[in-house]
Amino acid sequence: MYDPKSMKAEEFICHEEIEETLAYAQAHKNDRALITSIIEKAKELKGLSHREASVLLACEEDDLNEQVCELAEQIKLDFYGNRIVMFAPLYLSNYCVNGCLYCPYHAKNKHIPRKKLTQEEVRAEVIALQDMGHKRLAIEAGEDPVNNPIEYILDCIKTIYSIHHKNGDIRRVNVNIAATTVENYRKLKEAGIGTYILFQETYHKESYEHLHPTGPKHNYAYHTEAMDRAMEGGIDDVGLGVLFGLELYRYEFAGLLMHAEHLEAVHGVGPHTISVPRVKHADDIDPGAFDNSISDDIFTKIIACIRVAVPYTGMIISTRESEEVRAKALRMGISQISGGSRTSVGGYTEEERPHDTEQFDVSDQRTLDEVVKWLMDSGFIPSFCTACYREGRTGDRFMQLCKSRQILNCCHPNALMTLQEYLEDYASPETKAVGEKLITAELEKIPNEKVRKLTIEHLAAIKEGSRDFRF
Ligand code: SAM
Repeated sequence: MYDPKSMKAEEFICHEEIEETLAYAQAHKNDRALITSIIEKAKELKGLSHREASVLLACEEDDLNEQVCELAEQIKLDFYGNRIVMFAPLYLSNYCVNGCLYCPYHAKNKHIPRKKLTQEEVRAEVIALQDMGHKRLAIEAGEDPVNNPIEYILDCIKTIYSIHHKNGDIRRVNVNIAATTVENYRKLKEAGIGTYILFQETYHKESYEHLHPTGPKHNYAYHTEAMDRAMEGGIDDVGLGVLFGLELYRYEFAGLLMHAEHLEAVHGVGPHTISVPRVKHADDIDPGAFDNSISDDIFTKIIACIRVAVPYTGMIISTRESEEVRAKALRMGISQISGGSRTSVGGYTEEERPHDTEQFDVSDQRTLDEVVKWLMDSGFIPSFCTACYREGRTGDRFMQLCKSRQILNCCHPNALMTLQEYLEDYASPETKAVGEKLITAELEKIPNEKVRKLTIEHLAAIKEGSRDFRF
């Protein structure tokens, strides 16, 4: 029954296989010899199977758990260095016909105002985001074929890419909208999107159907097979995720890795990113109503185990998490974070953070400038780079770059140049001072002399007013 190459959701995310995996992991949670051999295998950087990774997640041996965390940190440094890519969500519309029990945009919620940005409002939001310094957005919308048809989403993407305010520029638009048809995915691809992101919410079919009682999202197979349709439509960067707290985390973890294995088996390329959202309070949503919430320690362990299981996949954490949790998660393998986020429709143009249409409460409420400075003070390089997809390095071509370890000659200088742009155009004087020092020190790490020399020239040109250099 279990077949990673199958195109049927219930065969590539096989319930029986997950149950057996969990039983196997439970039986071996103290099996030091097995766990040690899995850690050794993970050190080869070729990834782990869902079964092997599930054993690591179940492991109850403190010293071995410590080794997994150290390995996650090492893998993160080897593949991603100390760069952290920055992005912001942009909520376009909270009209939604679904009945998701965890989401305040569910159709039965009659007391929240429904809003959908006009193209003029999109423009104003994008200018506000550009003025913060953002270059990469993830657009978000509820599912509503009448109010938010694909044409509306495409219009918004067009508007977003067309705006160049001062030195501002949105260079990559990722899209987080409901599962759709191959034809619509093709249209999104033609509109120049970066990653198509769709959270599975839960891989447990029965829970999925319970949590999505009404609307098109109720269809588990249609939702779970969406990434295959996206790939068929030509989108080769797809982003997976589950909403932790809805189901047992060990079940979700195994399902998530099986989904990654499926994409690799069928399309020859795994997920571009994995997100790790946790259910948060929002309007009429009480996270306490879901009895599978996880502690911060388990949460970071999950991140470490994903990191060692799929070393080439980017990992995203949002402002659902606090500064403290984000600090720990960053070390364990996160490569992208949002900053200065507002999760309401039209939130960026408001003086005060509005709550009426918020999708969830934001824990990390710092400004982008504060997050950028904090990252640099913590030894990271905030990166506003969007080069890969603009140079056509998507799907397996990005993975090749990652695997060939050319990142230090490519992503690293790109990170420094986009950070320099940020410092010139948007940073506070304190952040700028910290950033200038960091860039000088980090230049030394570029191994190829020619690339280093060129980067220094580009940095000087950026200070003189030029923009948008990339390798
Ligand atoms: N409507 C689209 C769909 O159905 O996939 C995607 C956009 S939705 C705005 C983005 C994600 O927010 C959802 O996939 C869900 O995982 C997450 N979300 C919804 N309610 C949440 C809550 N109360 N706390 C945290 N995350 C939530």
